[in-house]
Amino acid sequence: RGLAIGIDIGGTKVAAGVVDPSGQVVEEARRSTPGNDARAVERVIVELVQELGMNHRIASVGIGAAGWMDLDGGTVLFSPHLAWRNEPLRENLQSLLRRPVLVTNDADAAAWAEWRFGAGQGESRLVCITLGTGIGGAMVMDGRVERGRFGVAGEFGHQIVVPGGHRCECGNRGCWEQYASGNALGREARELALRNSPVAYELLKAAGGSAEDITGITVTERAKAGDAASKELLEEVGHWLGLGLANLAAALDPGTFVIGGGLCDAGELLVGPARTSFARNLTGRGFRPTADIKLAALGPRAGMIGAADLSRVNGRMRG
Ligand code: BGC
Ligand code: ZN
Repeated sequence: RGLAIGIDIGGTKVAAGVVDPSGQVVEEARRSTPGNDARAVERVIVELVQELGMNHRIASVGIGAAGWMDLDGGTVLFSPHLAWRNEPLRENLQSLLRRPVLVTNDADAAAWAEWRFGAGQGESRLVCITLGTGIGGAMVMDGRVERGRFGVAGEFGHQIVVPGGHRCECGNRGCWEQYASGNALGREARELALRNSPVAYELLKAAGGSAEDITGITVTERAKAGDAASKELLEEVGHWLGLGLANLAAALDPGTFVIGGGLCDAGELLVGPARTSFARNLTGRGFRPTADIKLAALGPRAGMIGAADLSRVNGRMRG
């Protein structure tokens, strides 16, 4: 009773789950994201709903996608990592699935889940950051996801932190997500290995000797096993993370930051350095209360849980 399916669509994987009203995931399934083809992503969604719908009575479906939604939640305006451009996703899915469908941003969905069931409970000014392929951002203010005037608030990953820096999938240069995401971590590690630096020995070994195959996950795994170079790479990413959080504190003054997404697997190896750099870069430091920086409690499931829950309480989001 009261079950909903939540689907989190990121740049690399599609994760779906059957979620009950208390935020528990009863069953889940996942696929890799089919690249560069909007129709193929829709087909994967339909497949997942069919698969998960076989054993459960599903009332609604919530989609949290790595894209910029219009305020009405029907259209994906743009997505840096996926093929959507002005895509009427809700309409397409509603006719394919013949069920009520809610479409929202993946980070908005994750923030909602953390606020309702996770590390952000009880926080009246919550800012949530999801670190994966890119950086997702969202705010829950007084129990409501703040979506801005046009639906695209919280695109913190595309704040320019290094003018003229690395090219971003959004088209600009120097965006925060080019420095503090899972992709950024992988890129830095590959660069290190390609220089044939002996410090990259462990990383290269883990990737079967091929520098091109090193990803953010490789680095996190090696860092956890104690490899010094991998720990340094995570520390660097953590520093960029903390710097961005300090900028966000100046703009938004939240009580808590919750940090989620796949990269959070690295735990304190990432968040420790982020806290240090946050404290070092916060404007007015020493003369103002400081926000808490917490790791997400729901881990990689936050997006699916939030999307499912929002599809149930739909009305609450628009406030
Ligand atoms: C996109 C966001 C998304 C984030 C995480 C960013 O590049 O612009 O919409 O939430 O990646 O997937
Ligand atoms: Zn960008």
